[in-house]
Amino acid sequence: MNGRTKLLNAINKNRAPQTTLNYKEKNSIEAFGENVFSMTVMKKRLPKDVFKSLSKTVENFSTLDAKVADVVASSMKDWAIEKGATHYAHVFFPLTGATAEKHDSFLEPDISGNAIAEFAGKTLIQGEPDASSFPNGGLRQTFEARGYTAWDVTSPAYIMESPNGATLCIPTAFVSWKGEALDKKTPILRSMQALNKQAQRILKLFGDHSEKIVSATCGAEQEYFLIDKAFYSARPDIQTSGRTLFGAPPAKGQQFEDHYFGAITDRVLAYMFDVERELYKLGIPAKTRHNEVAPGQFEVAPVFETANLATDHQQLIMVTLKKLAKRHGMECLLHEKPFAGVNGSGKHCNYSFGNATQGNLLDPGATPHENAQFLVFCAAIIRGVHKYAKVLRAVIASASNDHRLGANEAPPAIISIYLGDQLTDVFEQIQKGGAKSCKAAGIMKIGVDALPDLPKDAGDRNRTSPFAFTGNRFEFRAVGSDQSISGPLVAMNTIFADSMDYVATELEKATKGDASKLNDAVQSLIKKILDKHGAIIFNGDNYSEEWHKEAEKRGLPNLKTTPEALPVLMDKDVLEIFSRYKVLSKDEMASRYEIYLEQYILKVVVEAKTVVEMAQTIIYPAAVRYQTELAESCLKMKALGLDCDDSILKKMSKLIITLKTGISKLEKLIAHKDSDTLKEAKTCCNKMLPAMIEIRKAADELEGIIADDLWVLPKYQEMLFIR
Ligand code: ADP
Ligand code: MG
Repeated sequence: MNGRTKLLNAINKNRAPQTTLNYKEKNSIEAFGENVFSMTVMKKRLPKDVFKSLSKTVENFSTLDAKVADVVASSMKDWAIEKGATHYAHVFFPLTGATAEKHDSFLEPDISGNAIAEFAGKTLIQGEPDASSFPNGGLRQTFEARGYTAWDVTSPAYIMESPNGATLCIPTAFVSWKGEALDKKTPILRSMQALNKQAQRILKLFGDHSEKIVSATCGAEQEYFLIDKAFYSARPDIQTSGRTLFGAPPAKGQQFEDHYFGAITDRVLAYMFDVERELYKLGIPAKTRHNEVAPGQFEVAPVFETANLATDHQQLIMVTLKKLAKRHGMECLLHEKPFAGVNGSGKHCNYSFGNATQGNLLDPGATPHENAQFLVFCAAIIRGVHKYAKVLRAVIASASNDHRLGANEAPPAIISIYLGDQLTDVFEQIQKGGAKSCKAAGIMKIGVDALPDLPKDAGDRNRTSPFAFTGNRFEFRAVGSDQSISGPLVAMNTIFADSMDYVATELEKATKGDASKLNDAVQSLIKKILDKHGAIIFNGDNYSEEWHKEAEKRGLPNLKTTPEALPVLMDKDVLEIFSRYKVLSKDEMASRYEIYLEQYILKVVVEAKTVVEMAQTIIYPAAVRYQTELAESCLKMKALGLDCDDSILKKMSKLIITLKTGISKLEKLIAHKDSDTLKEAKTCCNKMLPAMIEIRKAADELEGIIADDLWVLPKYQEMLFIR
């Protein structure tokens, strides 16, 4: 028995579902929010005036008063200690896309040598993590290496439990000493403010003077793979880079389409219940769960929340999925393409915006007046996506998402909008009808006619579209499973703020305060937008070859890889809107660009090094052993005067040479350094990745030839079917 066979035997014995919950004693829904210092908890525990002041701060995104902070901190501490917490942590979201924490104990020794628990308001509002190890893209000099974390009052504190203790976690923004954003939260908050400001202008035109904050909302569907922990331990590639760098496609694989919406196995279901319990405790409304298209692939989606909270919760979902998988003897893979030739994982960002008086502003509504308002917001989105398609592409660019976006299954790298036949027809009618004051036959007239019922049925959706209207929201489907949703949300908020600014300005000019002119103004503005930006609408098959040609004709960008996509962040028009709406300054954007490029390079180089090591120490030895075995057998046959079929031996020898030359070529590429980061990223993309594929091709072919008992890497077929 070789290592792999032993491993398979062990896994077969160890597949019982883990019973970690006593659900009959307490069901998970009862546990919802129990570890959150929520508004409800605060209302109970805080003095009335303090609570009032805090709620105002939350509602208006304003800053917290220092005196209020002291009272809140003390109450928060008491609550946390009752829940068993001994430590607190400022949680922040560095540009690597990860979640970072700095833990401190509540413990303060007093003069008589006793321990007391302390937590002052200023410790709650501000922290000073030693942040020099986080990438800053040149924003911080080492002599001013400190960054500050500041509590984001709009995101509640919560308790994270671990087997031996609990920690009070405070969601924070992370900024440099000069206030420059070093994280993924700060721009989300800024962009939400920008969006609100512009949306208010449009609402006023339509008679909503409530000034109730318009918030972006997001519900992100997270796809992921589960594999047995034992396989993970036996695959250095998955450990270092989250994906298989070798592995022949499975004989059956995705032909098992019944995995989708099929019954979830007990072992996986036990895990899902456990994940959901943890998420519920944290106040995260996990709602749907199901198998996904690929074997071993699953999905979890929470109910949508405001963009800011959704982003924090999304990070917690990723952390929880990974953490609990281990408890169940599995490993959760969030990589966009863990297995070549098998469906990849995305994170569909369902996006909309709304306020307290009107609810969802992308919901068409029942009256012609509501419809008109809806169409205006919709047109603003069409304009934004068309004008800044490249930005939407750039914010989802990563080494791992490149494997998905380029391929023939996920959305392509070309950004387009799916509106559906009905809504497209409505816009086309408006385009034809123009600003005519009388209604032409069969042509929809703004403010007079009601919209047809727009389908919200999932069956009617175009699953190939990267940006699809789904009845009352847009679904940005090109986002990668491993990415923070912050970048996409910041980008959408900003480009739509810009579009709403344009729309509001145009309508204000045309109506000059005269509400009776609004309908005609809207009609002609929508026509104008559609004439100019309608090219972004595409309801057909986004995977098709024809679309690639057609998109080129329409002048839509097709930025195939990360090194092609990222530089647009530094385009003049892009810098201009991000700074105009005070989301990211030029320096802040430049630092992001630099960090994302570095991250890309780092990821590809780590993969390349792993390829060399595995090819050299795992695949080559197995190949040579088998080659020797075949050669010896052949020699013996010939010695006996028998014929020997040496075709496999010859094939092997060729493949081994390809493998060897491939390794030396890749080693040279790894040793080579470019002076310029973009140049280096391009080398990674255009030279290193193809060199890795060459090695892989030879290795995967060898996998299909070498005697099974000599092959030590778990095979696709074994890893993919989790039971
Ligand atoms: P499907 O897989 O059919 O696309 P799911 O039910 O898995 O649908 O996910 C839909 C997601 O869209 C959920 O997270 C849901 O809460 C979210 N969603 C619904 N309405 C809105 C909205 N107004 N804004 C943002 N997200 C929304
Ligand atoms: Mg979806």
